[in-house]
Amino acid sequence: MLITGCEVFLVAVPTRREHTWASKMITPIGHHAIVRIDTDEGISGWGEAPAIATWGGAHMRQYGETPVTVRHMIVDYLLPAITGLDPADIGVIHARMDRVVKGNPYAKAAIDIACHDSAGRALGVPVWRLLGGKRREGIEVAHSLGIMPVDACVAEAEQAVAEGARTIKCKTGLDPERDVELVRALRARLGDAVKIRVDGNEGYATVREAVDVTRRQEEYGIFLCEQPMAGAKALAQVARRIETPVMADESAWTVHDILELDALEAASTFSCYVTKPGGLFRARQQAELAASLGMTCDIGGSIELGIGNAANLHLGVALECAVLPSVCPVTRLAGVDGPEICGVYYRDDIVTERLPFRDGVVLCPDLPGLGVEVDEEKLRHYSGVPGTTMVA
Ligand SMILES: [Mg+2]
Repeated sequence: MLITGCEVFLVAVPTRREHTWASKMITPIGHHAIVRIDTDEGISGWGEAPAIATWGGAHMRQYGETPVTVRHMIVDYLLPAITGLDPADIGVIHARMDRVVKGNPYAKAAIDIACHDSAGRALGVPVWRLLGGKRREGIEVAHSLGIMPVDACVAEAEQAVAEGARTIKCKTGLDPERDVELVRALRARLGDAVKIRVDGNEGYATVREAVDVTRRQEEYGIFLCEQPMAGAKALAQVARRIETPVMADESAWTVHDILELDALEAASTFSCYVTKPGGLFRARQQAELAASLGMTCDIGGSIELGIGNAANLHLGVALECAVLPSVCPVTRLAGVDGPEICGVYYRDDIVTERLPFRDGVVLCPDLPGLGVEVDEEKLRHYSGVPGTTMVA
């Protein structure tokens, strides 16, 4: 089975509310590139790149991508490099992609996901089997509260917990007093059974500020302190002065970042994405290395739609070290019953069915490939314009 062409769509889906964090207060969520890879056997696979211009690594070590740069890289560089290859030969595909484009991992991830989907469909196996097998049934949802007033956060968290969330993630990093008050108010309203994690998205200005905020939050019980400052060195300085485990996100893109985090003792856990390292193949390498160094991870992302979320789920059930509750979106389809708040960031999706959500866990599909089907009518509706077709 050989890759013959692809089509790229730039979608924008309606959101339930604005979802913001310290380094992204303006750019909207839900503007993603969707790619379909075609083969000579008539089997196609789907991929997604939730690229955001303001999303990158510390100190410009990784650069922002956008749906438009993803389309450009795929159409003009990546597709020509992989045309004629079998999508199952994923290591070869990555070597070809890396030879023609440095960086741009979100574009490569979209291709990688589509290759896994088509290879799984051709072989009649779910993607999790291609990743080494299934170790759990799904991903436990951490419901993410964007940067919002404390009252709005508490009201939303209460509703999310009523719908099944057992973990609440707080976006923080812009206002130390608000960040402490938020954790205090959530704990007072939600009780001790709900886990609370915080994510500063590199927002704190100094080690002293990050340490002070976190120690005060610790009085109310938090179990993860995610990327309070920019850079692994600063994370290490914070980690030495707080009780809570530090999670690296913006400082954990590649296997080399994991080596640096370990060498500096900067983080005991990291947010593993399908996209940051450039796809499922690379994410697995990164997570296996981290696990061998004693680290755990969650499965993070940029509020994926159904395709990207399915890729996250297959990775999450396959990785032994992916043990932490994650910001795994709960799919909402217009006109279909389901949770209204818990894990819900969009009002509609481009897949035909919701991924099952039970007891606070989004379940991973067992069907061949990613196990989701794309609603092509909705895909074209939300992309507004026809996709960019490339036949090599
Ligand atoms: Mg994060």
